[in-house]
Amino acid sequence: MVESAAMSRHVCPRCGGSLDQVHRRRLERLISRVWRVHRYRCRAESCGWEGVLRSQHPGGSNNPRRMKPWMWAAVILVSVMAATLMVAYLESRPGGASVESAPAP
Ligand SMILES: [Zn+2]
Repeated sequence: MVESAAMSRHVCPRCGGSLDQVHRRRLERLISRVWRVHRYRCRAESCGWEGVLRSQHPGGSNNPRRMKPWMWAAVILVSVMAATLMVAYLESRPGGASVESAPAP
C-alpha cells in the first residue's frame, strides 16, 4: 500500500519505502524540540531501517526565537568591527597607552 507522495513525506534512504514516525526515547523528544528531528522506521520488514531525520516543515516555525546561523555571523562581524575600531581609536589617540610616535609637548 503506497500513500501519495505529494505530501513530501520522508522515504527510507535504504529501500525508498515509506517510513513510520516513532517516538521512543525521551531524549529524542527533547532534541526534536530544538532541532526538529524525528525518528523514523521503515515499514518494510525486510529492510528494517531506523534512524533520525530532520523534519521538512519550513512553514511550521514553532520556536522563532532560535538564533539562526546568519545571526551569529552578524554578531561576530559586528564584534570584530567594534574591536577593530577600538584598536584604531586607541592607537590614534595621542594620550593613549604607550604611543611612541606621539609628539611630546
Ligand atoms: Zn527501508
